[in-house]
Amino acid sequence: MDLMEQLLCPQVCMDVEDTPLEIEAPTNEPDESPEADLSSLPIELRARVILDNEFEFLPEQVPHELLPSEEAVLKEEDFSQVDYLKNAKLHCTACNKHIGTALVEQLDRYIHPELNTLMCHNCFKFYGSGVFEKDEDGSELYCKWCGQGGTVMCCSDCPLVFCQNCVKKNLGNQKLASIKNSDNWSCFKCDPEQISKFHITCHVLHEYTNKQLR
Ligand SMILES: [Zn+2]
Ligand SMILES: [Zn+2]
Ligand SMILES: [Zn+2]
Repeated sequence: MDLMEQLLCPQVCMDVEDTPLEIEAPTNEPDESPEADLSSLPIELRARVILDNEFEFLPEQVPHELLPSEEAVLKEEDFSQVDYLKNAKLHCTACNKHIGTALVEQLDRYIHPELNTLMCHNCFKFYGSGVFEKDEDGSELYCKWCGQGGTVMCCSDCPLVFCQNCVKKNLGNQKLASIKNSDNWSCFKCDPEQISKFHITCHVLHEYTNKQLR
């Protein structure tokens, strides 16, 4: 067997124990980041802190570059940011929590490091808090979207896996069925066009927030 074959899962669908990835033990050092201070304040006060201080996006809150086909959508003449945001389902693509367009909600808007989709602060913290364990054959065990186990779908082109829940809640039952029925599925990282609408949402929301600040 060559190395590439060893890295890939033998079949598209497999079950993984439903345990979240290991989280490193919290340290006892006091957390003095301004973010930690903010989280103890009621949301109205947090908004005031944002507006009174010079507001800056954290690097983790800035969407990655769009694919050329996605940029083309944004350049369409009749594309309206407001209409788009009104119709888009604004939610954390990992836990499904609603995320609004208000400025204060920027505190809860993060960009998924691998997928360029919207993610809430909690999921972002959880996702970045541990090490993704791998199978002895090198393939990943936990969903690259939410970091959880469960029934996962394996990519035919790379070692990544994605859980059934994430596919279903973000892309629907039909997409889930088509992945399950295919012998060769390229994951959302290998074929990002599959999640274009989420990339566009991040960009539109980011631009909209920028405008609110001007
Ligand atoms: Zn979330
Ligand atoms: Zn998942
Ligand atoms: Zn892949």
